Amino acid sequence: MHLIPTQEEVVALLRDTGALREGHFQYTTGIHSNEYLQVPLALRYSQHQRMLSVALSRLLRQNSEIRAILNEASIVVPATGGLPVAYGVCEAARAKQVYWAERYHDHEPLHFRQYVNPSPGEQVILVDDILRTGSKLSEMKKLLEANGAQVIALAVVIYQPTPNTHDFGSLPFYYLAKLEASYYADAAHCELCKRGAPLEKVWV
Ligand SMILES: [Zn+2]
Repeated sequence: MHLIPTQEEVVALLRDTGALREGHFQYTTGIHSNEYLQVPLALRYSQHQRMLSVALSRLLRQNSEIRAILNEASIVVPATGGLPVAYGVCEAARAKQVYWAERYHDHEPLHFRQYVNPSPGEQVILVDDILRTGSKLSEMKKLLEANGAQVIALAVVIYQPTPNTHDFGSLPFYYLAKLEASYYADAAHCELCKRGAPLEKVWV
């Protein structure tokens, strides 16, 4: 495998580790899809976690403006699922620190743990295992900016856009592979339901 794996190599790794599954899935939002992706299933294996994180850090380093401030930058994740990637990127890029936000209940806003506070002017690279709708990353970005931090880039292992994916404008955006799944708003609009394919409910 090269220093930065190709899209095909990343997809093969996801399939081999069971992280990428084909079938007929219903997400908690009610959306139906022909694919289910759970990147942490691939990140269980430290050699994959390391390879994917190093590759992402190399993409970030290719941007000379980002490279120039990497050792002062914070790597921030909007959920614990992205932590293996965040620590891998931080180590490979020799960034300053890693922290994350979380929520205890579905409808409460993201928050940092007590005493974890971004500093005014702090430069942040937002990292996650996947960008799907981008709603959590967008909320994370707003929370950081409300605390005076400056988000300078966004880096994810997998970019799997949906029809409602948040637009991050001109923010530099890096990913290792882009996956296109078919999404259906609900059972009534789902081609797979029409064919009678067995449905599996997923909870993340
Ligand atoms: Zn369906």
